[in-house]
Amino acid sequence: MTGIETLLNGFRKFHEMYFGKDPSLYRDQLRHGQSPRFAVVACSDSRVDPGIVLQTEPGDVFAVRNVAALVPPCEEGGHYHGTSAALEFAVTGLGVDHIIILGHAHCGGVAAMVRKQEGGEVGGRFITAWTDLLRVARERALQADPGLSGDALLRASERQSVRLSLDNLTTFAFVREAMAAGNLSLHGWYLNIFEGDLEVWNPKTETFEQLS
Ligand SMILES: [Zn+2]
Repeated sequence: MTGIETLLNGFRKFHEMYFGKDPSLYRDQLRHGQSPRFAVVACSDSRVDPGIVLQTEPGDVFAVRNVAALVPPCEEGGHYHGTSAALEFAVTGLGVDHIIILGHAHCGGVAAMVRKQEGGEVGGRFITAWTDLLRVARERALQADPGLSGDALLRASERQSVRLSLDNLTTFAFVREAMAAGNLSLHGWYLNIFEGDLEVWNPKTETFEQLS
């Protein structure tokens, strides 16, 4: 089955699982509002659904998904800032305890940025403007290891993109204030879904450490 019926059947299955087994979860507990402890910034990539990968339940995670799991720097002005607005609400409205940047291997958004920096063609003016925000990630990867190229440079740029988004989070005053008050922690994770691995950024050792 490949058509839209797949999703409608999916809803039937969801209804059976959640309303058949525990009708009170939605009807009573979640009806009156949400109080998730986690905000996750993940890529829109269909293979890296945070709810599946992190095995969460309804009400656990405030999810922000965009191309390349990217947090832009704080920017004033009359533009539309969907990711910044979602994070503002997560921190100031919901009071989440943690923000997790969930980058991933073989990310098309990071690959588009690297391709453009190397003189290649990248289609889509919205995509290009967005992924250009990640240029520094490739530069940092090459600073750390000037010999990188090809797949190794892509993997290193993906990990550096997670770090860049962590840096960009702290350009928002509401993030800095919540951290200073001891109410918010930031986390950078790198998912290699193809190997079933998750790496966790350790700011003390400045390395990504594979979860055992
Ligand atoms: Zn991606």
